[in-house]
Amino acid sequence: MNIEKNIANVRLTLPQAVALVVVSKTQPNATILEAYHAGQRIFGENKVQELASKYEALPKDIQWHMIGHLQTNKVKYIAPFVSMIHSVDSFKLLKEINKEAKKSDRTIPCLLQVHIAREESKFGLSEAELEDLVKSNEVATMKHIKIVGLMGMATFTDNPETVRMEFSYLKNMFEKIKNTSLPPPFEMKELSMGMSGDYLLAINEGSTMIRIGSTIFGDREK
Ligand SMILES: *Cc1c(COP(=O)(O)O)cnc(C)c1O
Repeated sequence: MNIEKNIANVRLTLPQAVALVVVSKTQPNATILEAYHAGQRIFGENKVQELASKYEALPKDIQWHMIGHLQTNKVKYIAPFVSMIHSVDSFKLLKEINKEAKKSDRTIPCLLQVHIAREESKFGLSEAELEDLVKSNEVATMKHIKIVGLMGMATFTDNPETVRMEFSYLKNMFEKIKNTSLPPPFEMKELSMGMSGDYLLAINEGSTMIRIGSTIFGDREK
């Protein structure tokens, strides 16, 4: 794989306002460094331990995004350095992130992950759970998190219409919350949607942040 060229090719298709999160899960540090030397600074990981050890080993100006399911008891390992958490799917988790961020004297930007796919297996809040969380008085007291947007994963399918509808549904929820002009810790500006197979669709539906792995590094070993 020519990583530099692949990153350049993805960038060519992106509007200026769309951020590229390069998903480096399972990739060795040397491979990540190739992307780094091609100018990439935002990387996404889905496992706490892998994320923490890559943070230790790699240049400190990398912005690490946690994109995978996060267990409450593991928040402490990434709170001191993580740049954004895309996968907040419960009030309990948000509370823990706030607590651990406080210990590090930080404010951690978070995205609320919404379940938009047809598959059962994908994590995320339902629309009703999202509404409850948004209205929660306790969230309004959390000073060490910022809720900067929403994240979602579409159904894994060949049918682009299904995927488009799911992204459009997420975009609508995003706009609805954004237009409510909620007080801090809400600062709605990011919509993280789109992976290698569906990012062009996602951008058309209003994504501001895409998470791309295999288009850049090739297929991961299973
Ligand atoms: C692995 C992963 C991606 C990237 O997937 P590709 O299809 O390799 O681009 C994006 N988002 C999440 C949450 C992931 O776990």
